[in-house]
This record gives sequence, C-alpha cells and structure tokens, in this order.
Amino acid sequence: MLEAINVKLPLQQNDDLYTVKVQGGRWTAVDRQEGIIVSSEHPPIHSLSFDELKTTALLDLEGKVMLPGFVDAHMHLDKAYSLPWVRNRSGTLLEAIENYRGAAPAFTKEMIRDRIEKAAMSSASFGSAVLRSHLDVPVHLGRDIAMRTVEAALEARERVSGIVDIQYFPMFFYDSAYERELTEFASETLRMGIDGVGGSPHLSPDPETNLAWAFKLAQRFDKPIDLHSDESDDPGVKTIDIYCDYVKAGGYGGRATAGHLCSLSAMEHGEAERLIAKMSDAGVAAVTLPAVNLYLQGRGDRGNVRRGVTRVRELLEGGVPIAAASDNIQDPFHPFGRGDLLQIGLMTAYAAHLAKEEDIITVLQMLTANPARIVGLEQYGIAPGNPASFVILDARAEEELFQELPSSRWIYNKTRWTFASRLNRFGLEPSLLT
Ligand SMILES: [Zn+2]
Repeated sequence: MLEAINVKLPLQQNDDLYTVKVQGGRWTAVDRQEGIIVSSEHPPIHSLSFDELKTTALLDLEGKVMLPGFVDAHMHLDKAYSLPWVRNRSGTLLEAIENYRGAAPAFTKEMIRDRIEKAAMSSASFGSAVLRSHLDVPVHLGRDIAMRTVEAALEARERVSGIVDIQYFPMFFYDSAYERELTEFASETLRMGIDGVGGSPHLSPDPETNLAWAFKLAQRFDKPIDLHSDESDDPGVKTIDIYCDYVKAGGYGGRATAGHLCSLSAMEHGEAERLIAKMSDAGVAAVTLPAVNLYLQGRGDRGNVRRGVTRVRELLEGGVPIAAASDNIQDPFHPFGRGDLLQIGLMTAYAAHLAKEEDIITVLQMLTANPARIVGLEQYGIAPGNPASFVILDARAEEELFQELPSSRWIYNKTRWTFASRLNRFGLEPSLLT
C-alpha cells in the first residue's frame, strides 16, 4: 500500500490538494482534501533516499505536482545517440536520411539494441511510461540490415520491460520495384510482435500506392497505422488528404495517426482548414514534433525562416487529438534532446504560442492524456481502478514545470518506484541497470 497526502493534480484543473492511494499497483483512492494535512506519520518525499522511498508506505508531497506517466507517442529509439557516427552538415531532412542510410549497414544489432535501451531508460527516468518508436527498416539495402533493427528493438523492449512499455512502428519505405520483398518482410515483423504499420508516403515515388499498400497490410494484420505525413515546407505536399480518404474508407478512425504535418503550416489558411476538418471527420490523430521540425525545416529560407511546426492551435480547435513528442534524440535528424517530454512541452509552448494559464494545461494534456489515447491505452490517468503510473515533479504549480524544468522527479510505474531524482547527472539507480 502507498498513500500520499498534499498532492497537487494539475490535470484535475483546480487548486486543491489530494490524498491518493495505491494498492497492488492500482489507484484505489483519489480524494480531494479540505486543506493542507499536517501529519508526523507522512515523511516529506524529498527527505527520503531511493531505498527508503521503496519501503515507505506513507508520504507527504507538500503540494508537489503529480502527473500520470508521460506518453511519448513518436520517437526513433533505434537512431538515438548515433550522432557521433552520423553527422548532418546542412541540417536538412534530406541529408539526415542520406547519411543515416549510408551508415546503417555498419551498425551491429548490439549497437542498435544498446542505443534503444539507453534512450528508453533516459525517457523513463524523466517520467515517460509508454513510448512509441518508429524503426528504420531499409529493406532495399538488404533484408538482413532491416531485420537487424527489428531484432534489436524486440530484444531491447524485453530488457526494459520492467521499467517502460514500447510500441514499434517500422517505417516501411514503399517502392513498387521491390514490393514483394517488402510485403514479405513487413508481414514477418508483424508476426514477430511489431505493433503497427509505419511509413512516410510523402517520400515515396508513388505516395498513393504506398498508402494503399500500408492500409492493406494494416487491415490484414488488424494493426494500427502511424505515418510520417508531409514533413516538408512545400505547401503542395499533402498526402494527408488521401490518408484521410483511406482512413475513412477502411473504418480506421481512432487507429490512424499522422506525424509532423509541416506543410500544413506552410499552406494557405483555407486549404489548411479544409484538411483539418477532414482529419477530424476521418478520426486521424496528429503528433507534433517541434524540436525536430525547428531544427530541420526552413533550411532554404533566409530572413523570415519557416519553423515547420504544424498548426497546433488550429488542430486543437478543429477537434483533432494532438500530442507533442520527442522524435529524434542526438542523431543527424536532431542533435539535441534527451527523451524529456517536459522539454518538448516547453518547445511546444513556444512554437505554438501556448502560454496562458489554461494553455499550460493543454500542453500537459499533449504529453499525457492525448498521446495515451493516440497509442491506444485504455486505462490511463490518476483515477481509481487505473494502473498507478505517475511522475512527481519538484514544482508546486503547473507553470513552474515549464519555468524550472525540475530535475528532481520521482517515478512510479509497473507496481514500483523506478527512478528518483536526477540531481546527479547520471542519477539512474545502479540496481536498475544490471
Ligand atoms: Zn519521426
């Protein structure tokens, strides 16, 4: 049993304090308090070492913020930390793709597995409980090269399974010239435990055939679909238009996600509104990746440089479920990042002009409830009956989260405390790394 008093729950959208209880890894009580509770039996959480925390049933949070475990709905764990091997001198998406492709054959399964594990652990240490990662599967470079990444991913997932959950969506690069090999490879990965169908039709020589192929595969295996969509400054690139048609025709509403949508921000307003209404109607969710878009897009511009970040506010207003996610970490697509969704939330707040008090709640929802819905979590959030997965942050108000990006965090997931405080640079608990 675990009981915490004086808990601040920003997603409840009030200023009250709560007493919360966990039993057997599930929430059993989330009760609003009349005021502050003073108790000598509940030690303050920051006074406890990690070992003490693990054996303490009663805690005083002294008004600290608690959020449900973050959900990072769009990552590239297999590419994370590859920057020392793969550089990007122009800072463009094209060079990142080309350079990574050139380096991929030299990466061993062990290298890829270790990078995934490190990135997943880093993300978990900042508060993420569920990750969705796309995977690089360049079948046209050779089936063994593509399969190496899939095997590495499945092994890494097994290794971190006591800490964090991972979903995988390989980016199947469609080209009619090798359709048979690709279909056979993709089918095998889905039988091996891969979670859904990914891709980036706007980069395919034939986007519409790519979409048709991806839906046929997803339907055959009854899997969700999550496509990189229109990661381009060109307002004429709009595969999202036909993507919505396929979602509607295939009854895939609620199981289809579009990442990036950069060209949506570059196009004329009326056309963007039409597409947003179409997404809402079809049931296509959106994921914005502000860090990577700010880094890769607008590279040809001078002066008033386009930022590439999609129309976050309009998508929210149009009723499209939208999450903010990490995308790449320390690789040629994005040299920074550490899997910290709070950092991504801050970037989203800047890039989408979301900074009023109520906007801060919206940004927090884009890191929690919205991505939880997008990745298909059925029991999520701090409410009785749900699995207890949460992060406590050393802040007493939601605005402080983005003002201070608190480094002290306490994370509980999968029936136990998994991380505490990152005040030290390598503050991972050694016991969790063996
Ligand atoms: Zn991506």
